[in-house]
Amino acid sequence: MTQRETTQREATVLWGANNIFSLRCDDGTNLDHVRIKGKVLPDSDDSYNVLAPGDRVLVSGDDTGKYTILERQPRRNAVTRWNRKRQALQTVAANVDHLYVVGSAEYPAYHPGFVDRILVMAELEEVNASVILNKTDLTLSEEAAAHITVLEEIGYTVLRAVAHPDHPQGIEDLLKHHPAGTAVFFGESGVGKSSLINLLAPGAMQETGEVSIRYDRGRHTTTLARHISAGGRVFVDTPGVRHYPLDQYEATEIAAGFREFRSAIVDCRMPSCTHLHEPDCAVLNAVERGEISPIRYESYVKIIREKQDHS
Ligand code: GDP
Ligand code: ZN
Repeated sequence: MTQRETTQREATVLWGANNIFSLRCDDGTNLDHVRIKGKVLPDSDDSYNVLAPGDRVLVSGDDTGKYTILERQPRRNAVTRWNRKRQALQTVAANVDHLYVVGSAEYPAYHPGFVDRILVMAELEEVNASVILNKTDLTLSEEAAAHITVLEEIGYTVLRAVAHPDHPQGIEDLLKHHPAGTAVFFGESGVGKSSLINLLAPGAMQETGEVSIRYDRGRHTTTLARHISAGGRVFVDTPGVRHYPLDQYEATEIAAGFREFRSAIVDCRMPSCTHLHEPDCAVLNAVERGEISPIRYESYVKIIREKQDHS
């Protein structure tokens, strides 16, 4: 009887649907249609999806070239979103070097509260984050311009772009800002994430679309993140989200996700201060003194009120 030879190797998850994954091995070869051995991974938590683009996995292959996923390596960090319908945390992408929150000047309009929510998650998950303001060929509202000014004041980088293929702008600056590693693009549907990635990684996107079609006739292309590699950079295009709840965090954590609140929080009189109405709240005092922007504080209040309504 001949013993089947198995080989083990490490790979990165590019994409997955219905528990079937597309992987890239470290030598550059792609593995398609790979399943999890025994359908469950050891140590997998109760999250909505056990594997996300960017996850590092150990795979084993037999002599017929068939590979299965044995285990997931610990994550360095992760971009997440709370799935309210399923009451579960969804991992959008793992092992992320930079998160770009993409907003557009118009169509859809720029929503300060939405941008803030994603920045809070990034802050709490220890993912470096910046903002891309796309469609700067269109008119930016005063409200949006004011929010962007505040973000820059508190230390966020805001990159301006036009992702129209006929008259692109800011693409070189984006490439300079993200010289290597994995960048995740997150934002509402229609802000131009795919258009931006198409300009940053010409041709690579179409190839990814073709892989998705092989899997499931493209049915999942808009519901799962996609991992696009080009020239040492990896771009993760995520499905557009309309609403981004932060139910996975406690109220006190959310306040700490507003980076400019942190120095005030420690001075609040009540240890479990919600910064909404408490006496001697250092955050409220800082808002009153103009040290914390009312725009950001309003975002915070909306998140907390909405959280209270849902609990
Ligand atoms: P996504 O849903 O975020 O991936 O957005 P898409 O990349 O599909 O873009 C949505 C629409 O906006 C498309 O019709 C694009 O051609 C258009 N679009 C993207 N970037 C720009 C831009 O900078 N300026 C203008 N005027 N239109 C853009
Ligand atoms: Zn307080």
